[in-house]
Amino acid sequence: MTSINSELIIDPIIFRENISLLKNKLNDSSKFMAVIKSDAYGHHLENIVKDIQDLSDGFGVVRIDEAKKIRKLSNKKILLMQGVYSKKDLNTSIENNFDLVVHNMNQFEIIKDANHYEGLWFKLNTGMNRLGFETNEFLEIYEQYLHDKKFTLMTHLASSNDTSSLSNESQFKIFEDISSKLNKSIERSIANTGCIMNYPNKTYDWVRCGIGIYGGYIGDDKLKTAMTLRSPIVNLRNISKGDKVGYDGRAVAQKDMKIASVYLGYADGLPVSINDGTSVMVNDEIASVFGKVSMDLTTIDVSHLDKCSVGDWCEFFSPKLPITNIASSNNLISYYLMTSVKSRVKKVYKTLD
Ligand SMILES: *Cc1c(COP(=O)(O)O)cnc(C)c1O
Repeated sequence: MTSINSELIIDPIIFRENISLLKNKLNDSSKFMAVIKSDAYGHHLENIVKDIQDLSDGFGVVRIDEAKKIRKLSNKKILLMQGVYSKKDLNTSIENNFDLVVHNMNQFEIIKDANHYEGLWFKLNTGMNRLGFETNEFLEIYEQYLHDKKFTLMTHLASSNDTSSLSNESQFKIFEDISSKLNKSIERSIANTGCIMNYPNKTYDWVRCGIGIYGGYIGDDKLKTAMTLRSPIVNLRNISKGDKVGYDGRAVAQKDMKIASVYLGYADGLPVSINDGTSVMVNDEIASVFGKVSMDLTTIDVSHLDKCSVGDWCEFFSPKLPITNIASSNNLISYYLMTSVKSRVKKVYKTLD
């Protein structure tokens, strides 16, 4: 007997296909920054850098340790999307030629003291109220320190995936009003994946694209899920109408059923909040979660499957079963599912060939 395990299979061909689809939406002059923060949304930072760097103009991360790993593999632009919070990190960034976001006055003080004006991205608060300079505050800094410098002006949308939200137009307007007051040589960047999909005329000089690369953007069915999370069935049983399955007896059989127990639970990163009825895939057919997810097991209804045996794989998401399905049917976001998979799940990164 070989030992069994849950697997997370990552297919880089899909990143490349998704990037091509996304790049087709851009203006000719827009450059493509692949956002690969948080271990490339759980897809393995170093491998993805190798496999997509010919298609990307730069890479975006938040943590300086991730930026250093990328620099070992690539000479492309690397943006620290939250900038630096100390003089020490500024020095590391200068040594490694990282671009830096500057989002508040504390950060600007560090930059100003070092007289470092290369590769800066000034972030404006246009309504998200999380990071970024207020417009007047930024214009003051601009007049005093930046009017003869090259830099990138950026902001981030709060509701890019929702075209009915009025906040998008308001954020664009604030951003455009300010940028019209600045030197023409500055570059501009607003777009994350949702903005590329919904407002392709706002891609400006740089897009910062994350979730679309991995196929987790809800509202599009051409971008494919690059991860497969799968685990084998370890037990099958028949139950009778009225029987309950799993913790708290949440799932109650309305008829006689066949139940499969799958070797994956919340300790592997599947949220405990997954609802009954959530689709999974066994032998290319849809089955559904039946019973509360436990620590090491998930129970599924396979009553309608003629061929289903112990050892068969159950897929929770895959190129064939979009991660956006499980996310939207459970009020989750695909970012969360992708970055939740735990280390005890075996990671298999396919090679490009
Ligand atoms: C994470 C991040 C992005 C990428 O957003 P997606 O929705 O994943 O495309 C873009 N910009 C900033 C500043 C980010 O932090």
